Amino acid sequence: MIRFQDVTKRFGELTVLDDLCFSVYPRKHVTLIGPSGSGKTTILRLLMTLVKPDEGTITVDGEHLTHEERNGKLVPAGEKHIREVRKKIGMVFQQFNLFPNMRVLRNVTEAPVHVLGMSKDEAEARARDLIELVGLTDHIDKYPTQLSGGQQQRVAIARALAMRPKVLLLDEVTSALDPEMVAGVLDVLRDIAHTTEITMLCVTHEMSFARDISDCVMMFDKGRIVEAAPPEQLFGDPRHQRTRDFLRSVQ
Ligand code: ATP
Repeated sequence: MIRFQDVTKRFGELTVLDDLCFSVYPRKHVTLIGPSGSGKTTILRLLMTLVKPDEGTITVDGEHLTHEERNGKLVPAGEKHIREVRKKIGMVFQQFNLFPNMRVLRNVTEAPVHVLGMSKDEAEARARDLIELVGLTDHIDKYPTQLSGGQQQRVAIARALAMRPKVLLLDEVTSALDPEMVAGVLDVLRDIAHTTEITMLCVTHEMSFARDISDCVMMFDKGRIVEAAPPEQLFGDPRHQRTRDFLRSVQ
């Protein structure tokens, strides 16, 4: 479960998130849509602790990301606490950020072995299953530069899942891909959404993908939620003019 409570984030004079409250319940898939600059990526960056909120609290799977409990009191979270909570979160970015000097298999086993302390055999067995899940068994011994963008992104998805995260964050994972590569990546994610228990929070410009995988779609504008609803309602019968205007602009 992800919970944002009264979260405000500013960059200088600019209030990017304004007293934001929302929850994503376990095993649910929530998609954030909205115009460029509305604050969607900042939400994911807060969850990755790449930036800190100015106000409010964020919890993941019941653990505070911003604070920790010491002697019965909530104090600002220390590095160790943040590292532990972050283990619950996997992220796939627009740019795949694979390790260029490692083959596909090692890209997927590296973090489970070195961060989780998993044995090499166990990590490899799991990596092989995940590589099969993303349809890349035939490419397991290749280096990232020998793969297409879509294939690299599928390795990045397998790598994120290898850490057994409770929550998967997806930030515009198809934006950097050639159009013909998009469908393969979205198919893999659809499969994961429909067959695993993972909680997902996605930022996407792919409305059909949002419609397909989401339990709830949240329309953002200027750091606030304009409306949040199941996809059939939000896409079929949006309540707010701002949502209608946005959906028209992306169709
Ligand atoms: P897009 O759809 O274009 O990715 P977004 O909704 O994800 O947009 P954010 O990336 O969250 O938007 O950015 C929200 C606002 O915060 C933008 O105006 C952006 O310029 C600003 N911003 C984001 N990160 C920083 C930063 N590190 N320093 C200053 N301003 C920032």
